[in-house]
Amino acid sequence: MRSKTIYVVGHINPDTDSITSAISYAHFLCERHKHHIIAAAAGSLNPETKWVLRYWKTKKPMLLQDAKDKNVIIVDHNEIHQAVKNIRQANILEIIDHHRIGDVETIHPIPFENEPRGSTTSIIADRFSWFKVPISRKMAGLILSGILSDTILLNSPTTTRKDREWVRRLAKIAGVDYKKYGRKMLKEGCDLIRFSPNKILLTDFKTFAKGDKKAGVGQITVTSTIDALHKRHVLLNEMDRIRMKKNFKYVFLMITNIITLQTDLLISGDLDKVKKIFRKPINNNTIVLKNVVSRKKQVQPYVLKLI
Ligand code: MN
Ligand code: MN
Repeated sequence: MRSKTIYVVGHINPDTDSITSAISYAHFLCERHKHHIIAAAAGSLNPETKWVLRYWKTKKPMLLQDAKDKNVIIVDHNEIHQAVKNIRQANILEIIDHHRIGDVETIHPIPFENEPRGSTTSIIADRFSWFKVPISRKMAGLILSGILSDTILLNSPTTTRKDREWVRRLAKIAGVDYKKYGRKMLKEGCDLIRFSPNKILLTDFKTFAKGDKKAGVGQITVTSTIDALHKRHVLLNEMDRIRMKKNFKYVFLMITNIITLQTDLLISGDLDKVKKIFRKPINNNTIVLKNVVSRKKQVQPYVLKLI
């Protein structure tokens, strides 16, 4: 007999949206009298997310490292390469996401909600409102954090009218000025640049696959691009190393400045091909992308074309 426990879990290298989606959706299901629901994390939390959970006095979700024979609801992703280990042997009950449709397969038909939206928590917020489940101050704070983190304070082109509307409503319930709160939160995330090249590259790292070809794109947010670029050389070395080790065709690192909204894209791989696809000059293995902050909307389509 399978266990009755159901885990709500986001992607590996979890970000604030994945974690707050798992927590808020698990809470929603409990409020709807569903039992044995547990919010889970598919990896260790990044500094921004840790700050958010501390701020809202919320306990860390449990760590789920292997989905084999488990009942899972997956949020904020639907690609095998981004999912917790052995997802193919899990019993997937539901998917809520805001990314391209990937390659997660299920045995039975399941509810699969995918919408172009700024964050997964924004879609989950709709559920609360449809089913008239009250949103507590803490829940509002967590859901709000997911939207502000993924949209970089509503600046990403992925931001929709519904996201803006939710931010307004949730900030009111949470009792915060969303800009002030969001800036503080994002600054915590920018702290990551102090860490090792390996951690900088892999903390927010996504793998995209087409057949057997793979590319990886990491992203880090900073408040000073110049300071971050001091590390360019060691970062590129680490990117080359990971590319060889994991058999990627390309590895990219987006250094996204949350103030100027510019992304400096570091490249490891065939530069000539990258140049053709991006149609931008490359200097020091770097392409400067003005007004680019979204991996999903502004970088991933090029990467998929490349591989
Ligand atoms: Mn995410
Ligand atoms: Mn997300």
